[in-house]
Amino acid sequence: MKLKEEKEEDQFMKSCVQPLPKYAFRLQFKHSTVVERNTSASTVDLTIDATATWHNFSKFLDLEKGTQLTGVSDLKKYFHRFGYLPSPPVNFTDVFDSSLESAVSHYQSKLGLPVTGKIDAETLHLIMTPRCGVSDSHSHAQAAVLRQTRRFEYFNGRPRWVKPAPVTLTYAFSADHTVGYISKDEIRAVFSRAFARWARVIPMNFTEVEKYSTADVKIGFYRGDHGDGEPFDGVLGVLAHAFSPESGKLHLDGAETWAVDFRKERSRVAVDLESVVTHEIGHVLGLAHSTVKDSIMYPNLSPRTKKVNLRIDDVEGIQALYGSNPNFELNSLLSEEFSDNNGCRRGGAGLWWWLWVASVGLVQMISFML
Ligand SMILES: [Zn+2]
Ligand SMILES: [Zn+2]
Repeated sequence: MKLKEEKEEDQFMKSCVQPLPKYAFRLQFKHSTVVERNTSASTVDLTIDATATWHNFSKFLDLEKGTQLTGVSDLKKYFHRFGYLPSPPVNFTDVFDSSLESAVSHYQSKLGLPVTGKIDAETLHLIMTPRCGVSDSHSHAQAAVLRQTRRFEYFNGRPRWVKPAPVTLTYAFSADHTVGYISKDEIRAVFSRAFARWARVIPMNFTEVEKYSTADVKIGFYRGDHGDGEPFDGVLGVLAHAFSPESGKLHLDGAETWAVDFRKERSRVAVDLESVVTHEIGHVLGLAHSTVKDSIMYPNLSPRTKKVNLRIDDVEGIQALYGSNPNFELNSLLSEEFSDNNGCRRGGAGLWWWLWVASVGLVQMISFML
């Protein structure tokens, strides 16, 4: 007898061999470019994965205001789910009305897409890419208003952990809600690395403890409705969620095929555990979603994609809440970000590279002084 997730994956694989709609090829090219940069598994075709499961909204390509099509109500439910549409008076209709148009525009603006108000290819692609379950509406764009270069956001009320210095948050894993196919030691190592990324930039330490009931951060893998009002939805779709300070709840969807090493985990729907954990810790600490696509706090993550490095946007956001770790140097992060964006340091461009780092560092310094 097959496990539920095996059946879901089989079903998913069957859907993969069916003819793809025309738009998928356009998306395929674009998507593989992104994958090649972010992961060593560049030969894996992720476009099919990302478009063939969960919200298959492919028929809505180029849909715009004034049209009526069966299933538009599901599209409205999606935008409602993530905070872009209020609850309907009765039920959502299948008409692409002005409220949906403004929801689409808001979504595009919030996620860094060109604002067209219609379901263009880029928007469709993002809607069908797996994402974090935390709504985009719980956030407050205070920082973005103050400085346009910063696009991190906080939860409403700007909650943060308030503890006497030196701040240490403890974390523990649920013994009952876990996954059996990754060893406990591997999971512990993933979380240890993810917490260390945040500890590097803020004056805060994270320590694993055995006692779950009294830990600050409580971690578990859950399936479906698990009692906190935010049910998980099976393979892909919503991958995980976490609650704002000082709740400490960090939940991962137990139906996902979580991966700690894509060389070993070959499933096409595998999701990188460390990338998602690093993102969810950002929520635990008080960051909401960012509009910066490369940032850790961007809500979407494609399968078989690794994105674990904090970006300047993430660092500025978290340091505005907690201050900087005295041992952290912003220039080291700038160097890493530049290297990541360019594949490697280029010998011939060395001078320009250092000039660039120095100038950005200077701008950052002035920015902090203001
Ligand atoms: Zn999130
Ligand atoms: Zn939950």
